[in-house]
Amino acid sequence: MNIGILGAGQLGSMLAEEGIDLGHHFFFYSDELSTPAEKYGEVFNKKRLDEFKNKISLATYETENTSLGLISEIEKSAEIFPPKKILSIAQNRGFEKALFNDLNIPCANSVIVRSVEELRSAVDQIGLPSILKTTTDGYDGKGQFFIRNESEIQKAWESLSTSEAILEGFVNFNRELSIIGVRGLSGEQVFYPLVENIHKDGILRITIAPAKKISNETQRLAEDYITKIFDSTNHIGALTVELFETNDGLLVNEIAPRVHNSGHWTINGCTTSQFENHIRAISGMPLGSINVKSNWCAMINIIGKVGNIQQFADKQNLFINLYGKAERENRKIGHINVVAESEKDLNKLLESLSDYYPLDCWKN
Ligand code: AMP
Repeated sequence: MNIGILGAGQLGSMLAEEGIDLGHHFFFYSDELSTPAEKYGEVFNKKRLDEFKNKISLATYETENTSLGLISEIEKSAEIFPPKKILSIAQNRGFEKALFNDLNIPCANSVIVRSVEELRSAVDQIGLPSILKTTTDGYDGKGQFFIRNESEIQKAWESLSTSEAILEGFVNFNRELSIIGVRGLSGEQVFYPLVENIHKDGILRITIAPAKKISNETQRLAEDYITKIFDSTNHIGALTVELFETNDGLLVNEIAPRVHNSGHWTINGCTTSQFENHIRAISGMPLGSINVKSNWCAMINIIGKVGNIQQFADKQNLFINLYGKAERENRKIGHINVVAESEKDLNKLLESLSDYYPLDCWKN
């Protein structure tokens, strides 16, 4: 099939890289001048939208910031998955929380606020500490204010420069987890194991797969949450759910209707990666089995600088993936996957990569 991808970054590239092996052809829509995806297919800019549309019969997107107007335009001539409904929910934290509450999926208490007065009464309701977030356009921890005491309410409201925000109760979590599920056109669905995500300054630095000490019951519960979301939105493709693990169980934080940074480990860790399964799902092919290939995997993001990566070239069980992006502070420019049979070996591999994450992110 001729598949269009809205966006031409690393997620689009990795989708195409695996989709080409399935016999598909890829075309990208992006206004960026130099993109990681250009080696996998032609990139069309805004002026060439009609040409892009003429090339494709099926489309998908790599970010939840994709404009709904663009999706409606593409939908006139091609199928697009995941469906617009879930994209519109994922673009708005208020819609997300409403969906979780409707489906009885546990999440932080929250209230929508549209003025500093509303924020004051929301603080009375939710309590402190709490987190004020813009309802739209927030990513990687941006557009948020952590409110510790009442004297910060005015500053919190002003700092977001928005007409609508959501106040969320602060969740005292032990770990941040995520899970990726994929549903195909036939209704078939697969789930990757829950993984642990370690962030610094709102940016994902390390994923450990699977997350340690997760019971079968907890994994099933997370899969149930995804299934409920699949059912209620007629989802097709990959869906990532980010969660907090607390002493009282799991709380869902947010969803992303797409392949996800916390699923990059699946390229080397599973028989079928998140990228391949997303393409299989949206193009009507049977899904591939997850089958985790080794006991432990980890993914380390390369942020800002490539560094002395050659030193790892001959290391076994270590896989480097650079996206071909220029170095820039806080920019995700690649990742390294490691696979190991024992926790001890996993720890050794992670230790050898300590140049790639701040010290307090991970310690053996
Ligand atoms: P988000 O943009 O919602 O993913 O938030 C970015 C990060 O802020 C998360 O990865 C958490 O580390 C933290 N965070 C977000 N919401 C909460 C919350 N309600 N309670 C505690 N920490 C949170």
